[in-house]
Amino acid sequence: MKPDFVDFHAHLDLYPDLEAAIRTCEISKTATLAVTTTPQAFARNKELAKDSAFVRVALGLHPQLVADRASEIALFERLLPQTRYVGEVGLDASPRFYGSFEMQKEVFGKILDLCADAGDKVLSIHSVRCAKHVLDMVESRLPSERGKVVLHWFTGSASELRRAVDLGCYFSINERMFGSPKVDVVLKAIPSDRLLTETDGPFVERDGLPIQPGDVVKVVELLAARSGRTYAETQRLLTQNLMSLVT
Ligand code: MN
Repeated sequence: MKPDFVDFHAHLDLYPDLEAAIRTCEISKTATLAVTTTPQAFARNKELAKDSAFVRVALGLHPQLVADRASEIALFERLLPQTRYVGEVGLDASPRFYGSFEMQKEVFGKILDLCADAGDKVLSIHSVRCAKHVLDMVESRLPSERGKVVLHWFTGSASELRRAVDLGCYFSINERMFGSPKVDVVLKAIPSDRLLTETDGPFVERDGLPIQPGDVVKVVELLAARSGRTYAETQRLLTQNLMSLVT
């Protein structure tokens, strides 16, 4: 069954009812990457999404949780053969998490090595305030023929963007990114065939409430308005991009 929409970074298990969140994505035919923040969360997501046509579950170890959860890398390694998708992983150099930055680099490096060894993984990567570090590590430890990278909510500079494009990265864009003037730099630099959408729900809110699972309608409208494509053309572009990423 062909999807109508793409939500390549959603925390379905952080909504109050995971089963209902999966159902919402099914009904709207949204190809959804359900990222997880710890390896311990993976099994329940995988079980509840097992009959889903549109939801795929990613194995994650969020950089903001590495300070407390670094030891779960062993569980990550055991679970990795069960999925093609990895996320949320990456690095976060914002002040609150900078204390664990060295540990984050160790864990993220190990994750990239495991993915490179396994081959054919698709990763959703967080890179807050450290695009350069993330790109350095991807370049040296996950060559493009060993895995595919989607940079989620990327806010690096124009030159970092060009570098990410040259490394073969895709980019998942959410509606909150349009609240920053940076979005113009980002959208100008990303080739149209590397563009995906995401909600990053429930963290992204609309009118003070968490965005609904898989609800990328608004970001598709915003992308269409910027590009001069129609809404339908934009929808088609995004689903085609997803297909070329995963096939
Ligand atoms: Mn996230």
